[in-house]
Amino acid sequence: MFDHSRQDADKLQKILSEKGKYKNDIIRMILEGKAWDREGISLSSDDQLFAMADGIRREVYGDEVYIRGLIEITNFCRNDCYYCGIRKSNRGLDRYRLDKETILSCCRTGYELGFRTFVLQGGEDPFFTDDIMCDIISRIHEEFPDCAITLSLGERSAESYRRLFEAGGRRYLLRHEAADEGLYRRLHPEEMSPENRKKCLYELKETGFQVGAGIMIGAPFQTIDHIMEDIRFMEELGPDMIGVGPFMHHEDTPFGQYSDGSMELTLRVIALCRMIFPHALIPSTTALASISPNGRARGLKAGANVIMPNLSPADCRDKYSIYNNKAATGLESAQGLENLKKTVAEAGYRIVTDIGDVKR
Ligand code: SAM
Repeated sequence: MFDHSRQDADKLQKILSEKGKYKNDIIRMILEGKAWDREGISLSSDDQLFAMADGIRREVYGDEVYIRGLIEITNFCRNDCYYCGIRKSNRGLDRYRLDKETILSCCRTGYELGFRTFVLQGGEDPFFTDDIMCDIISRIHEEFPDCAITLSLGERSAESYRRLFEAGGRRYLLRHEAADEGLYRRLHPEEMSPENRKKCLYELKETGFQVGAGIMIGAPFQTIDHIMEDIRFMEELGPDMIGVGPFMHHEDTPFGQYSDGSMELTLRVIALCRMIFPHALIPSTTALASISPNGRARGLKAGANVIMPNLSPADCRDKYSIYNNKAATGLESAQGLENLKKTVAEAGYRIVTDIGDVKR
């Protein structure tokens, strides 16, 4: 990075981390991709922004990229989110759920490959009661005491979160999806509410989980103002992890005719999040990898520091079809780790296989 951008990065970060007069104007100009010159800082291209974010990520995390083994435990879902391919109304989908032994065997494969975090993600499947989930989590915890267990199972009760934590869950990914009530309601059916989503995030935090919030970029009806509102919400929440990926259409959903989100805007949001939340764990998401062959690398260069390759059994990957053209093989699969290491190294980073906790 050039020295001048290093100085600018520090100045910009200071503006973004305080409630100043120009903060919102500057965030807006960055999101709109406009060149600007203010407060002695000038920003003329996205590449400059990404270089600044990269400088900050290197100050906190060096060149380390953490990997998480993603296990998609069920594609049954009681919800009907308009954007999501595993919504309950998608009758064409071949549904599956993994049993405990299969999940454990995915963890064993992952452990051998060097994974020290397992992410159990799924639709909101009532089959996975607290008793069943706690049994699975405690077995993983027992067999892999040096690994972190991340959960991403949607909205549950505070009592449920407490039990999952006691069983050994330590991190929980629950994107807030949209902080703005109007937008949230346009993306979800009536029985879902932004209040409950946010309440869950605060309850998870109170329980002791490291929490991950986040959004899709380019979801139908989403504007720059909405994204600004999302950033404000996350400043309030203080998430440890931030998931940002482009919206990708799925033909068998009510949003099947909408275009996919923009990679450039997604990268700008990642860079902004890195500057506003320097310590956050920010994945270069599967959706980014799906939108472009170099999406993963570009996410890293814009400030992301986590990759979540797929550890699910090969015959389930197509069925966990939240959007069309989802990358789940080749570099995206856990077995493709050696190739992924090369791609990451070419981008200027290094995959590490430790537990990869948030640095505060
Ligand atoms: N049920 C859990 C939940 O609600 O958090 C976890 C599974 S859910 C499928 C995981 C994430 O996938 C959601 O938070 C959403 O942002 C993302 N997702 C769903 N449909 C998508 C789409 N069409 N394009 C991009 N991301 C999508």
